[in-house]
Amino acid sequence: MNVCIVGTGYVGLVSAACFAEMGNNIFCVDVNPKVVETLEAGKVHIYEPGLEDLVKRNTAQGRLNFTTSLEEGMADCQVIFITVGTPSLPDGRCDLKYVDAVAREIGQKMTGPKIVVDKSTVPVGTADRVRGIINEELEKRGESIPFDVVSNPEFLKEGDAVNDFMKPDRVVVGTENAESAAVLQQLYGPFARSREKLIVMGVRSAEMTKYAANCMLATKISFINEVANICERVGANVTEVRAGIGSDSRIGYSFIYPGVGYGGSCFPKDVKALIDTAKDYGYEARLIQSVDSVNNAQKHVLADKIKEYFEPQGGVKGRTLALWGIAFKANTDDIREASATEIIKDLTALGMKVRAYDPVANERAREEIGDIEGLEIIDDQNAVLEDADALAVVTDWNQFRDPDFDNIKRQLKAPIVFDGRNLYQPERMGEAGFAYFSIGRQPVK
Ligand code: NAD
Repeated sequence: MNVCIVGTGYVGLVSAACFAEMGNNIFCVDVNPKVVETLEAGKVHIYEPGLEDLVKRNTAQGRLNFTTSLEEGMADCQVIFITVGTPSLPDGRCDLKYVDAVAREIGQKMTGPKIVVDKSTVPVGTADRVRGIINEELEKRGESIPFDVVSNPEFLKEGDAVNDFMKPDRVVVGTENAESAAVLQQLYGPFARSREKLIVMGVRSAEMTKYAANCMLATKISFINEVANICERVGANVTEVRAGIGSDSRIGYSFIYPGVGYGGSCFPKDVKALIDTAKDYGYEARLIQSVDSVNNAQKHVLADKIKEYFEPQGGVKGRTLALWGIAFKANTDDIREASATEIIKDLTALGMKVRAYDPVANERAREEIGDIEGLEIIDDQNAVLEDADALAVVTDWNQFRDPDFDNIKRQLKAPIVFDGRNLYQPERMGEAGFAYFSIGRQPVK
């Protein structure tokens, strides 16, 4: 099938590469000429395990093409996927300006029947909005070309995106049109081989499904973080509590790891957008509002522990913190809404110096937060430790899980570790002579 994918970020490029891998001809369109140039040169501008190989192979075999021109990209394509960003506006609402722009251009330039697929995460009602914009443009041209707008939200997670796309738990297709459903069934056939995996539903239900899924996952994270905060105060250990509740099959173990709060380009904005959609329809989403506010507070918990520790010794001013992990989670270079940024801001505002290292996000961090006064980003995991007053671990990269503790002790001024991901065992840290502070567990002093 000939498919056009508009927006070649994490979702667009992964979808494009995976569709191409199954033998489809894909035209990727991006407004950013730098992105297109990089991809045409056989390089990938984002970090996603396994993606570069797929892109290289399918580009070399002619199934993956890149352009900045939507007109060129969609000319021979029956299906057009919209995979552009849908960031939050300052008031938390979803900003649809990129989706609107693509819809408008499709309406202005389409020459034959199309199935337009919303894959970006968009509020309920957006398929109708896209349909309206395309119709408006067609009317201006005096044309009546048939088209349909389908919702096909994406559930991949950064860091394991290729795997998720290749072996999805489910594929959701929202349409009332049997022909559009059949085309998407054909396209997704190789990925969702068992028929139950492809769930066809109404457009609004599909749009709502994406928000419900992300809000459920965010709720689990905020729930366990709240439990962790209570554990600390009542003398319990959240790791033990997690084992105790996760073993209940109605609860399960996944997504109940305590930490420094969720970040990234999806959960924070999608939680806010659903609160806002509910408000638009006269409903106050109290539970989801609490998920958001628990998370906002959780992003400051580690910095608060650091401040509290140094308080009796004159505070953090003039001290140096070594910080491991800037990305919002492991296996990605994405630092959007990362908790590390909040921690860095909290501490540098009080005059602490932060020397930060991330295995892949350093470049992106330099671009996006490099101007924070007091922050230095260093490309060496060991060098950040040298003569620092303490180490804070913020992202759960594998390479931080079992470091050389003797070396850490030698490099730091004093053996103090603040662990925002509960990567280490408090007993072991105590035996090794560290002062150790983690989330939802009793400190070792
Ligand atoms: P991204 O920011 O990585 O990529 C978006 C791309 O769209 C950019 O390269 C940008 O240049 C391009 N773009 C913007 N306007 C354009 C236009 N008019 N024409 C062509 N290209 C244009 O975004 P992303 O992380 O891939 O997210 C895309 C959507 O998918 C969002 O709605 C997001 O919520 C959703 N989503 C993201 C993930 C994820 O893990 N990142 C997972 C599921 C769903």
